[in-house]
Amino acid sequence: MQILSQYIDSQQYSSVFILTDSHTYQYCLPTLLENLSIDKPIEIIEIEPGEEHKTIETCIGVWQTMTELGADRKTLMITLGGGVVTDLGGFVAATFKRGIDCVNVPTSLLAMVDASVGGKTGVDLNGFKNEVGGFSFPKIVGIDSRFLNTLPKEEWLSGWAEMLKHGLIADYAYWQQLIDINNADKMDIDQLIYRSIVIKNEVVLEDFEEQNIRKTLNFGHTVGHAFETFCLHQQQPIKHGYAVAEGMIVEAYISWQKKLIEQSYFEEIKTNIRAIYPKLDFCSEQIESIIALMQHDKKNINKKMMFSLLKDKSKSLYNQEVSVEEVSKALNFYITQL
Ligand code: NAD
Repeated sequence: MQILSQYIDSQQYSSVFILTDSHTYQYCLPTLLENLSIDKPIEIIEIEPGEEHKTIETCIGVWQTMTELGADRKTLMITLGGGVVTDLGGFVAATFKRGIDCVNVPTSLLAMVDASVGGKTGVDLNGFKNEVGGFSFPKIVGIDSRFLNTLPKEEWLSGWAEMLKHGLIADYAYWQQLIDINNADKMDIDQLIYRSIVIKNEVVLEDFEEQNIRKTLNFGHTVGHAFETFCLHQQQPIKHGYAVAEGMIVEAYISWQKKLIEQSYFEEIKTNIRAIYPKLDFCSEQIESIIALMQHDKKNINKKMMFSLLKDKSKSLYNQEVSVEEVSKALNFYITQL
């Protein structure tokens, strides 16, 4: 926080706008304000919490409030929250008066290890995840794991899923460390967060606009996003990380079926993820609708479904074409056998 204060004071900002949701307003804003010693006017904007509010309508409300409160091109936006606030706030900042500076202060585990890092911003549209948005790097990502003290357990697990993904695609030893979750209270959380950020950052720096290798970070997300969107459409939203965890099981199955990984490795992934996350309750009649959602995935090329899949331990491949039949078989396996 000291670094954040020093950074803000070193810049010529006219004002600082802090975006929170109602939870981070209550649990995190007092700590931020206590530790932020800056000589600039501060305004607070609060939005409703949850994925269902990650919409353009919420953005319009924030843009209007910023205008009413006199934000200008030298205003700094600080997003204080989970991935919803950092994604939406980053998009609002990137577009307000053609773009103002933004600093992310992530408060959920998922936002610390993933959403706040890498410059992807945006909102959902008509229930489709991240349909509108852009790439825009924050000036600083200020991580303070003390914010996690008030994070509900299921939000912890949601973030843990993205860390597991980092282990599977890039660092098998890290995966092994993370699956020992019953001993999580003995682990050094700062060191784990740091490891995840390093893995993500290395990929992002090589391919900021996701033309190639950055796609590997989407392992588990083609199916995971479809599960998440399907549940959202059913008015039964599930946590992002829970959907990604289940997506990783299905995509590990496809990796095995395509002979990219051994069956024993698939079993290891399935067993360990299932020990942490509950199975999602779908039926065979819903497979077609779930696949239709995957056909919206941003990684698809010429209407062909392109997945990021595992290739042995600590490695992954992108632009792997997967047919409707292959996905259907994998979902059927998920529904009937797991
Ligand atoms: P979230 O922002 O909805 O936060 C989860 C819940 O935890 C919310 O109710 C929030 O108010 C609460 N919360 C946050 N910090 C808290 C704290 N310290 N104490 C108490 N409560 C707290 O969701 P999330 O899981 O953080 O992020 C999910 C979003 O991130 C999704 O929209 C997903 O698409 C996005 N995401 C983006 C990227 C990216 O690269 N931009 C990557 C992964 C995920």
